[in-house]
Amino acid sequence: MVWDVTFTCDICGKSKGEANHWWMAALGAVPCFEENGSTDTRQQRFTLMRWSRADSQTPDMYHLCGQGCAMQAMERFMTEGVIELQ
Ligand SMILES: [Zn+2]
Repeated sequence: MVWDVTFTCDICGKSKGEANHWWMAALGAVPCFEENGSTDTRQQRFTLMRWSRADSQTPDMYHLCGQGCAMQAMERFMTEGVIELQ
């Protein structure tokens, strides 16, 4: 099996190999969130999903090499509001 696209973990930088216990995460807005007039522009929703070959190529998707990095991504979201630190 040949990988035509190489993925790296957005938390630790590890390259994806044959192992298939990777996860994906995406941030998004909560529908109707604007109703309270908040000017907070940070993403409000953290979505975690199992690896899918098709969805993994979506530009806004974060790639996570396992449970540990998935937990760390959620922790960053809860404390910083982002997954990738600047
Ligand atoms: Zn990782």
